[in-house]
Amino acid sequence: MNPVELTSHEDSVRMFNAKGTSPVVVVCEHASAFIPAKFSNLGLAGDALQSHAAWDPGALALAKGLAVRLDAKLVTSGVSRLVYDCNRPPSAADAMPYQSEAITVPGNQHLTAEQRQERVEKYYEPFRAALADTIAGTAMPVIVTIHSFTPIYHGKMRAVEIGILHDSDTRLADVMLDNAHDHTDRLVQRNEPYGPTHGVTHTLKEHALVNGHWNVMLEVRNDLIRETDQQEQMAESIANWLADALARLQDDGVAQCQA
Ligand SMILES: [Zn+2]
Repeated sequence: MNPVELTSHEDSVRMFNAKGTSPVVVVCEHASAFIPAKFSNLGLAGDALQSHAAWDPGALALAKGLAVRLDAKLVTSGVSRLVYDCNRPPSAADAMPYQSEAITVPGNQHLTAEQRQERVEKYYEPFRAALADTIAGTAMPVIVTIHSFTPIYHGKMRAVEIGILHDSDTRLADVMLDNAHDHTDRLVQRNEPYGPTHGVTHTLKEHALVNGHWNVMLEVRNDLIRETDQQEQMAESIANWLADALARLQDDGVAQCQA
């Protein structure tokens, strides 16, 4: 359980198991809560800096567990999504969010065009390029993005435990929803607690849909991947679930590339 770690682009993007042999490319855009010192914590203090607003707790460990089990490459962002949310295009207002649930981010208020552009160039572009290169270097790639969400949002408990998300290409998501009961007892729902209308499918659109690669975005409730044993158990379930879904797609002769 010790993936080879390569660090590049001044840590704005990190790769694990870069020589993985699986067609699956695992992506974790919200892997880190790290805010470079020059941003002075974006004006935040205390719990906010480690809260789900800053990153997806548990998602990196789950993504690594998946990468190890599948022998898949893993591409992650090295900075907090409050610095730059790598699952958003530069044109999106919430690529550098001023507001996240109940938290306001003083350091993201009144950003100039130059400040925004600097973050795009320093954090988003290296991530985008590294992911594009990784996908280009993988035969018949399958894009799987790993996220976690908070159990309580705006004071309301969320029932959904695992979300299977997709944009206009539903192929892999459909099979995973069909075979969910073979792999988990958790409450699994389509495009919950977020979906394409919330702007969360940027990576899928940018890196998978354009080339017709099979793809899915997985959202796991973060209380289910808090402890190491939970993370390992979830990684095991999802690895088997995904492998089963991919085998079914292949058996059904579903085209892997539309281009
Ligand atoms: Zn996320």
